[in-house]
Amino acid sequence: MKRRDFLKQAGIGAAAAVAATAASAPSARAAQTYSWKMVTTWPPNLPVLQTGAERFAKRLEEVTGGRIKIQVFAAGELVPALGVFDAVSAGTVECGSGAGYYWAGKVPAAQWFSAVPFGFNPQGINTWFYAGGGLKLWEEVYAPFNVVPRPQGNTGVQMGGWFRKEIKTIQDFKGLKMRIPGLGGKVLAKAGGTVVLLPGGEIFTSLERGVIDATEWVGPMHDLRMGFYKAAKYYYYPGWHEPGTCLEVIFNKKIYDGLPKDLQMAIDAVAVETNTWSLSEFEAGNGAALQELITQHKVNLVRFPDEVLEDLRKLSKEVLEEEAAKDPMSRKVHEAFKKFKEQVGVWGSVSESPYYSLIADKYSLKS
Ligand code: CA
Repeated sequence: MKRRDFLKQAGIGAAAAVAATAASAPSARAAQTYSWKMVTTWPPNLPVLQTGAERFAKRLEEVTGGRIKIQVFAAGELVPALGVFDAVSAGTVECGSGAGYYWAGKVPAAQWFSAVPFGFNPQGINTWFYAGGGLKLWEEVYAPFNVVPRPQGNTGVQMGGWFRKEIKTIQDFKGLKMRIPGLGGKVLAKAGGTVVLLPGGEIFTSLERGVIDATEWVGPMHDLRMGFYKAAKYYYYPGWHEPGTCLEVIFNKKIYDGLPKDLQMAIDAVAVETNTWSLSEFEAGNGAALQELITQHKVNLVRFPDEVLEDLRKLSKEVLEEEAAKDPMSRKVHEAFKKFKEQVGVWGSVSESPYYSLIADKYSLKS
């Protein structure tokens, strides 16, 4: 009995000692605060994109009780839009916000984590990230650059773009001058079009004056804000080239790895929350803006003909194979992407897809 009591007490003592250590460690760590800078690829005040990055910073400060404070800088305020990845990689700033395809020149495989023509929709890409190994693979792609990525937002399925003339066959893309960046632009070029890259501020005037024949931007909410309906007659859907563009928040890996576990978890949790918030804002805002474009601005909403979409799909496949052949990591990501897309696609073909066609009949898209 005595021996057992002794052991019991010793056990309690040991447990108490462990508890004391555990209690003192977090309180010591809790005293440490972090003051960071975030640079983004977005213009100041750009809804959901720049405001989403700012919301992430605000929420993280709230969730951590002020232990992480982030000052957010829009594109050009501290570094140029396309300098965000390098600034985070070098540790000039602790974190950044943008989209993977902006770093395609440096990290070709990054493109698969933002937008792939005829790739995942928002539900698909989030499924790949959180339940299909996509995020782990993304971490692997960014690790050599000393960067940790997290999905931070999603634009939803984008629109096909604004065209000054109708697109009836794939031939109509021949000679068409269009502002369309990324992999979608490579597909357009394959179809015989000319890709014109313009800063956001010059797109409207170029379209209005006929310097370009067409432009894509985002979805109805952002497109309405740009006033494109005043410069081009036809508004095409769907956005085959960006079917669910993922936005990212990135951290300097040394900074992230050096954080206490609970702050890493706070970052991860707020990123997931912002990702959900962003898609919800896009969906609600796009719905309202589309109605305004149709009812008030009498926009011609046109679906790309099936044959055109089928031709674009074939060209997209070629472009992706060519891109994947450029480096081993791109190949690895492309294969993983394709495999998972096949797997969830089969399920989607009997769940999301038939359900959407069923309810789509209930809504009128006519102007
Ligand atoms: Ca776009």
